[in-house]
Amino acid sequence: MTIIIRAAIILILTSTAIRPSPPLLIDGHVHITNRVYWEKIDPWKPQPIGDWDYARARQGGVNVVIENIAPYGYNSYNTTVKQTGRLIETFHRVLEANSARMELALTAADVRRIVANGKLAVILGIESGFDQEGDIDILRLWHRLGVRLIQFSSQVTNSYADSSLRGEPEWNGINDRGRMLIAEMNRLGIMIDITHATDAAQRQIIQASRAPVVASHVGMRAVCGNPTNMPDDILRALAAKGGVVGIHSNAAVISQRYFDWTRARSAGAYLSGRPEPARAEFPLLRSPNRDFGEYIGALDTEMGSLWRRLFGQQWPGPVEAEEIVPTEDEWAAHVEHAARIAGPAHVAIGLDLTHGRSTLKNFDARGYSRLADAIRKRGLPDIILGENWLRVMEAAKANQIN
Ligand SMILES: [Zn+2]
Repeated sequence: MTIIIRAAIILILTSTAIRPSPPLLIDGHVHITNRVYWEKIDPWKPQPIGDWDYARARQGGVNVVIENIAPYGYNSYNTTVKQTGRLIETFHRVLEANSARMELALTAADVRRIVANGKLAVILGIESGFDQEGDIDILRLWHRLGVRLIQFSSQVTNSYADSSLRGEPEWNGINDRGRMLIAEMNRLGIMIDITHATDAAQRQIIQASRAPVVASHVGMRAVCGNPTNMPDDILRALAAKGGVVGIHSNAAVISQRYFDWTRARSAGAYLSGRPEPARAEFPLLRSPNRDFGEYIGALDTEMGSLWRRLFGQQWPGPVEAEEIVPTEDEWAAHVEHAARIAGPAHVAIGLDLTHGRSTLKNFDARGYSRLADAIRKRGLPDIILGENWLRVMEAAKANQIN
């Protein structure tokens, strides 16, 4: 009798116990919602063009992503907010239509629960501006809608921070509005992404933030001298605050040889294999103050056709440069350098895979295990594959003061 009772108790305990979470494999910087919005693709079907979709990432063993919606090109008064809102709505529609295989993660605990249930955990992030004027209520609204990471500087200099990509620096880094936004992001528990801010802005954001900050998709300047890459002193400062860097996969960010090749051939262009315009940014347009929808209508038409022209096709990549596209081992060299300078707890994956030969040799979202192998071959620990991202997410939340 006692044996039967004991067996029943064991059965109840094991069936109700929380399933152990499998090891995390996190890419902290991916993009797919913009394609859903502009190209109407099904991101859960492997796409014939482009390097990344949910379907192939799952095949590659990924169980957590930070998906970055990005209102590229919508830089003028209030259009950033409008486009960000549309993309967040698109993101939620995809979530609802695929609730059996993916779920929005608002906390680190959510991530573990969702992964343990066998689904893809998706953290929502914003690249390229949440509102160029830096309205604090808009920031709070996006948080309510599930946003847990924001790239602080957008792809153009805005009302609170200087961008390293486009627009002249205005603030010598960040200004008082920027500091107010950082305080609010800390309070809300939104991860602050310093990617694409100027070096000065990055230093000031790290200093001003009470929580760890991240650089979701960067290379190391000491390994490849691309000026958009991160210098060691900023990496040290970021690590001292507990932050993490995600290592990018772009060929001209990873490989000095590839960067030199593209620099020699297209002045100022650092992104390889992309049709003109070579930069990831769209024209900066300013709207007239008074209209009845004409401006946004014209802007949508312009941006839609630009998106399809730039991204609705595979980037062919220069055939003559095929031999010099970097390998995953060269990618791992950035991981190793960052680990040596900052410690392995401060390095992670942030590939920014997009539409073609911007990236590593013969690589797409099915290839994450090759990155894991390349890291292990250099004797680096598996926390780089996922746990580091989660630690920062947890720390951003722990910093909430109410
Ligand atoms: Zn970016």
